[in-house]
Amino acid sequence: MSTKVKVTDLIKTYGDNEVLKGINLSVENNEVVVVIGPSGSGKSTFLRTLNKLEEPTSGSIIIDDMDIADSKTDINKVRENIGMVFQHFNLFNNLSVGENIMLAPVELKKENKAEAAEQAKKLLATVGLESKFDATVQSLSGGQQQRVAIARALAMNPDVMLFDEPTSALDPEMVGDVLEVMKNLAQQGMTMIVVTHEMGFAKEVADRVVFVDDGNIQEQGTPDEIFNHPQNPRLQDFLNKVL
Ligand code: ADP
Ligand code: MG
Repeated sequence: MSTKVKVTDLIKTYGDNEVLKGINLSVENNEVVVVIGPSGSGKSTFLRTLNKLEEPTSGSIIIDDMDIADSKTDINKVRENIGMVFQHFNLFNNLSVGENIMLAPVELKKENKAEAAEQAKKLLATVGLESKFDATVQSLSGGQQQRVAIARALAMNPDVMLFDEPTSALDPEMVGDVLEVMKNLAQQGMTMIVVTHEMGFAKEVADRVVFVDDGNIQEQGTPDEIFNHPQNPRLQDFLNKVL
């Protein structure tokens, strides 16, 4: 096993609000880590520091042997290797589905358009939307838009994917298709960190479940350990509320 992401003593404060209080987490190659925890506990802030959408206050974040806190590290290079999918899909409504997926490969990686289109079509097929290349974003359901957002992130060939509550904004009947795409990705060996309230997904797909509360990892373990033998009273309390 090789370590893909290594976070050491990560602290993030906003003013005098210490939101992350010294997070330590290593994620191995091909590992799927699911992060659970109450609202406001720092889960989104944690994911956002991993690709420098937020600047860490202190601590270190090593991804693919590159220290992303080091000013000498080319953060754009790091970001190319980290795909991120948000609760709100953030697709460009003025572009077609295909154009959304091709945008970063063509603009950032300078891929030629024909190849990028070919790749976009393949990715659309893997998320079950092969017929939607020319569709407008608005013509798609929320679940379809989220699957396009996943395809768009994959178009950069990332070796880590971060998901921040990717199904929280979806109508219930859309959730399953998106989780299925994520499950397939996990089975193909993608290294993933997934923040979600979908405990079924955590039980079935996670190699490791991490419980975050009050800016710290309070407990972590296999799905069996976390869901069937929780130790920390906060985790027990959280599970009583969500299960
Ligand atoms: P979660 O994703 O677990 O719900 P967040 O990481 O979004 O939690 O938020 C954790 C805490 O950080 C909250 O108290 C929130 O108000 C605060 N916070 C998040 N982003 C900012 C920001 N940009 N500025 C100030 N406070 C923030
Ligand atoms: Mg959040």
